[in-house]
Amino acid sequence: MLVVMRCGATDRQIQGVVQAITELGCEARQLHSAQGTTVNVVGNDERIDSARLASLDGVQDIIHLSQPYQQASRDWHPVDTVITLPNGLKIGSDAIAIAAGPCSVEGEQQILEVAHAVQEAGATLLRGGAFKPRTSPHSFQGLGARALEYLARAGEATGLAVVTEAVDPETVDAVAEHSDIVQIGARNMQNFSLLKRIGRIKNPVLLKRGIAATITELLSSAEYILMEGNANVILCERGIRSFDPGTRNLLDLSAIPRIQQASHLPVMVDPSHGTGIRDLVTPMALAAIAAGVDGVMVEVHPDPDEALSDGVQSLYPEQFAEMVRRAQQVASAVGRRIASPAPAKLGS
Ligand code: PEP
Ligand code: MN
Repeated sequence: MLVVMRCGATDRQIQGVVQAITELGCEARQLHSAQGTTVNVVGNDERIDSARLASLDGVQDIIHLSQPYQQASRDWHPVDTVITLPNGLKIGSDAIAIAAGPCSVEGEQQILEVAHAVQEAGATLLRGGAFKPRTSPHSFQGLGARALEYLARAGEATGLAVVTEAVDPETVDAVAEHSDIVQIGARNMQNFSLLKRIGRIKNPVLLKRGIAATITELLSSAEYILMEGNANVILCERGIRSFDPGTRNLLDLSAIPRIQQASHLPVMVDPSHGTGIRDLVTPMALAAIAAGVDGVMVEVHPDPDEALSDGVQSLYPEQFAEMVRRAQQVASAVGRRIASPAPAKLGS
């Protein structure tokens, strides 16, 4: 439930509403905007009599919510959110962002080599896992803090913005310091304490859909981040579990327009994890662009056969370059363009 205060409501009137909500056993969260103040009633399981709040001084309206999320919804924010990164890249604009890089950072030379290759081919973001959430504890877990340094240097050398995953609250600050976008992976989509922690950092967040999460659940998870004050959330469709073992996951392309109807947040797609098969990555990336996606994230490895994780779904660098060429054609057919890469720094 939301209590909308009248324009020009006094602090005393707002405090009166906050106090009434608290006395009724709920938490009151104030949201201030150019339009005025709204007080969000958190923890209301329909016990609250809205007429009691509506009668308080300074209250203009009571809004009953039909969804488990508000700030993520298009009703709350009708205009598309556009997220601007320090290198000028705007995610959610007419320019489609392409993120590329290995599943895992395996060494300084490896990430630098991929970064140059994907930058030259047309990527604007560099991906690479430092902390890897692996299904088996026997699998490669990532190089950790060392990989963050390598990634940051590769980003610097190429002008690419860096996206990498945070897997626990303890390493969030280090990840945020070395990256432009912090990723929350599918396995952590409903790790609510991590989401709240991520809501308090300044970096934009790439929130991936859980392996069996509905779109409503994805948007509810985004709401945890937004409610902590971080407005820059990008949602990512990365495939959901299906009955068919023919692909690693089932890439839900209908999620793209569905999320865009329901939410103002930008949407990306990850056809690498979405299919798990290298030769399906480009067709699905193109289909996602045709469906209106704001960004594409793919895995690229200089030597996929030797990759320490996800080699079978990683593109060869030349396959990636071809994907970008075809992506430009599809983007222009649907009135969009592929975001231009920053020029690589001289001497690097
Ligand atoms: C990743 O992008 O590196 C990753 C682990 O993806 P997901 O969380 O979608 O499985
Ligand atoms: Mn991977």
